[in-house]
Amino acid sequence: MMNSVSNYHSDTDEEQRLAALVAYDILDTPPEDAFDDITQIAALICDAPVAVINFIDRDRQWFKSVLGLNVRETPLDISICVHALFQPDLFVVPDTALDPRFMDNPLVNGDPQLRFYAGALLVSEDGHPLGTLCVLDHHPRDLNEKQRFALRALANQVMAHLELLRAHKKQAALIQELQSAQADLLQLASTDPLSGLLNRRAFEQYLNQELALIKADTSHASLVMIDLDHFKRINDNLGHDTGDWVIQRFAQLCRGVFRKSDVISRWGGEEFVVLMPNTPEVDALQAVDRLHQRLISEPIVYAEHQAVFITVSVGICSLTSTSELQECLRTADRLLYMAKDNGRSCTVCESSQAK
Ligand code: GH3
Ligand code: MG
Ligand code: MG
Repeated sequence: MMNSVSNYHSDTDEEQRLAALVAYDILDTPPEDAFDDITQIAALICDAPVAVINFIDRDRQWFKSVLGLNVRETPLDISICVHALFQPDLFVVPDTALDPRFMDNPLVNGDPQLRFYAGALLVSEDGHPLGTLCVLDHHPRDLNEKQRFALRALANQVMAHLELLRAHKKQAALIQELQSAQADLLQLASTDPLSGLLNRRAFEQYLNQELALIKADTSHASLVMIDLDHFKRINDNLGHDTGDWVIQRFAQLCRGVFRKSDVISRWGGEEFVVLMPNTPEVDALQAVDRLHQRLISEPIVYAEHQAVFITVSVGICSLTSTSELQECLRTADRLLYMAKDNGRSCTVCESSQAK
């Protein structure tokens, strides 16, 4: 290409320049008032019909803001600005038709007849020329000292605004990273690693919230405490790893049996607690009966052709407006141990005391 940027400096320099440009993440972004204001001011101060903020990409000149021309980008081989990139100061061409670099340019000798050009460099923080803020006119002319000063100063403002945008984006990305790390930590802190269920601490928080709702008389709930029967035998007979596997499978089974709105937690060891919001004891009992049925009908498969049936003992109590956290947990635990005493694989409800 006649006007490739590599004509002006080495390929390595050009790659670094392009990397600097990409780092601002400005190419192909929509027009923005802050940039349009600057081109307006440049046109006003320089008394020019055309003003442009452009960036020189690998093979095109792209306009972030353009006043007086109906284009968003042009190929580099007809770009006047690309010549400005490697000029030490303001690049001024009083009459493009007299300049051998531009006299054959279709933008000069055809429409829109750009006969005058003055461009101030947009330079990155680390010194790479990225583009220009330029003003153009349809007839030959010049800029006075004040206009030249203003054009340079406005170009600096374009870069200051770009730096600010970049800093904001970086900050937003950091905040997002932090929030997602916090969410991960929170998730980690509230989850039991073996079963993936809530841990005791997180469950107590849910339970406290629910009790507050119940005290405000807006809700009622049931609390279900579940203990796997004779679990020690599973460990002793099948090994601790199989015991772990059974705990995981049981947690999965609970997820299938209880509703999405129920809060299931691993209370510790082979003991689980479920908070069932808006659920009277009789409905909680039905759900727990489904759990017993599933365990009776489906063994837990732990190896090829090897499976074990498990049973659970369960205590269910209601949460009332006078309930206190530790007291309800103690009640559910007491009912659970009554179920153990009743021969296991059964449920004891607070209201019936036996089932
Ligand atoms: P019961 O019917 O009276 O509840 O009998 P049990 O054998 O289930 O009760 P016990 O309290 O005697 O034993 C519980 C066993 O659960 C002992 C403990 O090693 C085992 N256990 C607790 N946590 C885990 C765990 O994370 N993984 C495995 N594999 N075993 C666990
Ligand atoms: Mg047990
Ligand atoms: Mg136990």
